[in-house]
Amino acid sequence: MQLTATRQVKCYHCDALTSIEVPDEDVNLETSHSVAAFGEQRKVTCANGHTYWVHFC
Ligand SMILES: [Zn+2]
Repeated sequence: MQLTATRQVKCYHCDALTSIEVPDEDVNLETSHSVAAFGEQRKVTCANGHTYWVHFC
């Protein structure tokens, strides 16, 4: 899969924004504290060291 777009996600711990690459500009992003069993997702670490998951919907 080619990553063609960049979006900003907000850390749900501290509201810090982190830029991530996404497969599609129109994709819906959903942040979560846990990994999902299936689907496209990405592990994100914010500037303050919090780790969370972003699911592409
Ligand atoms: Zn954070």
